[in-house]
Amino acid sequence: MSTTDPSSGDSIVVTESTESESSVVQPEPTIKPGDDAPEGTPGTGENVCPHCNGEGRDAEGNDCPVCGGTGKVNTGVGGG
Ligand SMILES: [Zn+2]
Repeated sequence: MSTTDPSSGDSIVVTESTESESSVVQPEPTIKPGDDAPEGTPGTGENVCPHCNGEGRDAEGNDCPVCGGTGKVNTGVGGG
């Protein structure tokens, strides 16, 4: 995994951007209003949205504002 090869006659200039050194900056994880934590967060799990009971829609047939129409929310599991 060497970045430079002495045997190579080509003068390869490896410009290491400082950005690659910085910690991985991930975009804001998708989190719905009804989520306790982003999906995949340890200690959390997918549950039926308590607002729409998994229907994904509210009483008026609109996308549930809590789960975003998915009918599921990511909430903490265990304990509590
Ligand atoms: Zn819902």
